[in-house]
Amino acid sequence: MERKVGFIGLGIMGKPMSLNLMKAGHTLTVFDLNQEAVNSLVETGATAASSPKEVAENSDVIITMLPASHHVKAVVSGEKGILEGAKEGSVIIDMSSITPEVSRELAEEAAKKGVGMLDAPVSGGEPKAIDGTLAIMVGGKEEVFESVQSVLYGMGKDVTLVGDNGCGVTAKLANQIIVNLNIAAMSEALVLAAKAGINVEKMYQAIRGGLAGSAVLDAKVPMILDRNFVAGGSIAINMKDITNVMDTAHEIGVPLPLSSQLLEIFHALKVDGKIKDDHGSIVRYYEKLANVEVKRV
Ligand code: NAD
Repeated sequence: MERKVGFIGLGIMGKPMSLNLMKAGHTLTVFDLNQEAVNSLVETGATAASSPKEVAENSDVIITMLPASHHVKAVVSGEKGILEGAKEGSVIIDMSSITPEVSRELAEEAAKKGVGMLDAPVSGGEPKAIDGTLAIMVGGKEEVFESVQSVLYGMGKDVTLVGDNGCGVTAKLANQIIVNLNIAAMSEALVLAAKAGINVEKMYQAIRGGLAGSAVLDAKVPMILDRNFVAGGSIAINMKDITNVMDTAHEIGVPLPLSSQLLEIFHALKVDGKIKDDHGSIVRYYEKLANVEVKRV
């Protein structure tokens, strides 16, 4: 079913996701603070709006793909925000990775205006955003979820309703622990191999089919061997997620010893000027400790 979709936040993820929605036949109205990003979408057939309010006035389904909780709050419930313009019966899908607390708060505000809301963060990074094969973890009411399936499947392959509002972003926090600790574990292994003087590329080929193989290994080892640290998923956004992980965990009484160490590694990388680089840069923290570089021979 083709829908009138609004899209706010046309960054690394939002731009390819909105292009895929247009390819799937949906009509798009877009907004971003970055005019260049808006222009590139308009060139491919989207309509530009002057505020999130105007996006909502022209749409039945409004998607947000913004950096963090405070951006989503401002866009949904701030001045000239979505809730000022949204029609009763419309649905907001927040696909940003934010805190469960803010996500639930905004869903309650939306419900008071008769507007449905889902939290639907994604995993898979820029490559899967481009391919339209993102994993999407959803929180919200089943009937709201059912009503926007055609939109969600326009961007993702595995779309799962995890539970009520806040459950999607909670699943994403868990996802971020697994992804980033995997990169840290992989980095320790790569630095050990490099300093021991073995061919790291051959080692990667030798182990990737065994139990150590993973989507993380296949995504990040080739980038590291190419010394390509252009973000995909930046240190900044992953540090934001692990900060949210620690805050949420402490709030509900869950100690996370490994994730807290990871957060310190992110702070060290920030001080080292790597905040805008890909989270594959975790390897550069370990390289500094061991005074070695992981590269092709
Ligand atoms: P990004 O910084 O590339 O894009 C964010 C966009 O939002 C920018 O274009 C920015 O101009 C816009 N924006 C910020 N504030 C705004 C406002 N008030 N009004 C309108 N537009 C505004 O970020 P991204 O990498 O696309 O990530 C977006 C979300 O997706 C984040 O929550 C991130 O954690 C999550 N995510 C990212 C990746 C990844 O690999 N990049 C993977 C999965 C999930």
